Amino acid sequence: MPPRHIQLSAPDITSEERRLVDEVLTSGQLSFGPVLEAFEREFAERFGARHAVAMSSGTAALHVAVIAAGVGEGDVVITSPFSFVASANSILFERGVPHFVDIDPVTLTMDPAATVHAIEALAPQGRLRAVLPVHLFGRTVEMDAILAAARRHDVVVIEDACEAIGASADGVFAGRWGDASAFGFYPNKQMTTGEGGVLLTDRDDWARLARSLRNQGRSDSGTWLAHERLGFNYRMDTISAAIGLAQIRRLGELLHKREAVAMRYNALLAGLDGVTPLAPPRVGMQLSWFVYIIRLAEGIDRGRLQAALAARGIDSRPYFPPIHLQPIYVERFGFRPGMFPNTEAAGASLLALPFHGNLAADDIDYVCEAVTEEVGSMKVMG
Ligand SMILES: *Cc1c(COP(=O)(O)O)cnc(C)c1O
Repeated sequence: MPPRHIQLSAPDITSEERRLVDEVLTSGQLSFGPVLEAFEREFAERFGARHAVAMSSGTAALHVAVIAAGVGEGDVVITSPFSFVASANSILFERGVPHFVDIDPVTLTMDPAATVHAIEALAPQGRLRAVLPVHLFGRTVEMDAILAAARRHDVVVIEDACEAIGASADGVFAGRWGDASAFGFYPNKQMTTGEGGVLLTDRDDWARLARSLRNQGRSDSGTWLAHERLGFNYRMDTISAAIGLAQIRRLGELLHKREAVAMRYNALLAGLDGVTPLAPPRVGMQLSWFVYIIRLAEGIDRGRLQAALAARGIDSRPYFPPIHLQPIYVERFGFRPGMFPNTEAAGASLLALPFHGNLAADDIDYVCEAVTEEVGSMKVMG
């Protein structure tokens, strides 16, 4: 029998994605066109938004939102230090300054009370431009108080919903609280377009600006080579949009399959000493499963566990190294260890196990058996 290899993630592609991609290839229209428009329309409709602007990545969508927010040199944006680095980088692209708020140790998302406190403290100083909450690991940030404080002080809200498509709280989808939100479709996300992203907004002015910025700053007068502003090539190509169109139509199914995998993991790892799964959502909150994360108890050496799993053909990955301790952030802003203890504790103890919608029950069982044995032996060795 060949040795097993269980990879961390995999996209879920069917004949429907292939059919739509083939249609685009046959049509010859590989940039813009009706398939891109259909993707944007159906994406917006799925979440009840006025505009979905397809972009080349989630990072591009975040960057454009930060520009729309008017962030410039020295402007402050409140965000989470526990995220994929792109959420904070989007602030740096415009020479803004990230003001990090530590996470809640249980939900792993920005502490709402501390965020409100930061808004109240920073707004009167005049440089606070935006709040950028990150809906991490498919769980929404508690938005109500944050949103109210931001509105009170006329500060815009940009949601990083790249890991939370389809998640909701009290009937509101991730990405539907703020002025705009960013979604990302990298192949490990809940839905994919290969590379790609969407900026979702109800604001006509932001949508118009985003369409211009993604297309070299062209005016929307229809004149092909009139560049009104400094823009980018942040366009999503139509082949990606075809994959996205099939995936957004399948989103319910995609999320359902992922949830079933997570439930099997939860059941098999329940009660295992030294390993804690992510906290269940509160009543009224619906998760969108992005990764399957376990928290390791203090005495368990994550690196050794990873090596032991790798020897059995099981991929795993620490999530996330804190953003404030990334070299470029230390160098530019002088962040130091100890500044955001909940983020640092999470960054030191979380491990992502193989996770995607088509992960076979047999593979989940194999991973859980391995985790159980390895963690058990580490506890004994103490
Ligand atoms: C994936 C991700 C992004 C960026 O998406 P890309 O499409 O890879 O640019 C941004 N923020 C978070 C939290 C993400 O997980």
